[in-house]
Amino acid sequence: MDGLELLVDLHRNAERQGPGGAAETRRAIDLSGLRQGAALRVADVGCGTGASTLVLAQELDATITAVDFLPAFLDELEGAAAATGLSERISTLEASMDALPFAPQSLDAIWSEGAVYNIGFTSGISQWRTFLKPGGVLAVSELTWLTRDRPEELEAHWLGQYPEVDTPAAKMGVLEEAGFSPLGYFPLPGHCWLENYYRPMQARFAGFLERHGNSPAARAIVEAEQQEIALFERHAAHYGYGFYVAKRTED
Ligand code: SAH
Repeated sequence: MDGLELLVDLHRNAERQGPGGAAETRRAIDLSGLRQGAALRVADVGCGTGASTLVLAQELDATITAVDFLPAFLDELEGAAAATGLSERISTLEASMDALPFAPQSLDAIWSEGAVYNIGFTSGISQWRTFLKPGGVLAVSELTWLTRDRPEELEAHWLGQYPEVDTPAAKMGVLEEAGFSPLGYFPLPGHCWLENYYRPMQARFAGFLERHGNSPAARAIVEAEQQEIALFERHAAHYGYGFYVAKRTED
């Protein structure tokens, strides 16, 4: 198994593949104003196994296209949608988030939790804007500094991993620059990382290592995740995911 297949194996049986929570998805929906809409067309980009897709389908009068480039995750999502009676509202689409096949101005909302970083926030939101109707909603969660001053160890790690990590004010500026008008921001609470994401992942490590005969590649994945978790445990006050909700300007 190559590295990507190993990662899929570690994450496919999880409820979510990144920090987040159903209550926080609902909070972002509240900020979006989408509850007033009917027959909405929504895309959930980088949906993973669909933690947010299922909430969107429950909460909105909408059909949702759940997009990911990993078919194994989409299979899980289809199973979950069927099990919860939401299949009619959800369709899956295997595509890359930097080459989405939507028509210009065809979507009422683009949702994306913990995923836009894969193509970079600035580039991602600019590309995706094209697909939104004027006034359409963009809702993304994104790695964010929560304090102005950060420990050096922390800055060095995340600037190395993701140079676009920045403060909420800076991210709002990027949104405005790209032709969005911010509707709201909130930081995800710490339990969205620990209880909802990291702890369940840690509980899967033993089985994962066993399935792969404790191979060096599998051990390297676990080791990298453990280091990221330890960093979060040391410095959670200084960073997290910010949830940004904005609407496309008219022009
Ligand atoms: N939104 C989900 C998953 C977040 S993890 C959740 O919150 O649980 C990021 C997701 O983005 C993964 O499912 C990964 O497969 C997907 N992804 C990464 N790069 C991608 C790309 N270029 N195109 C489409 N999906 C991508």
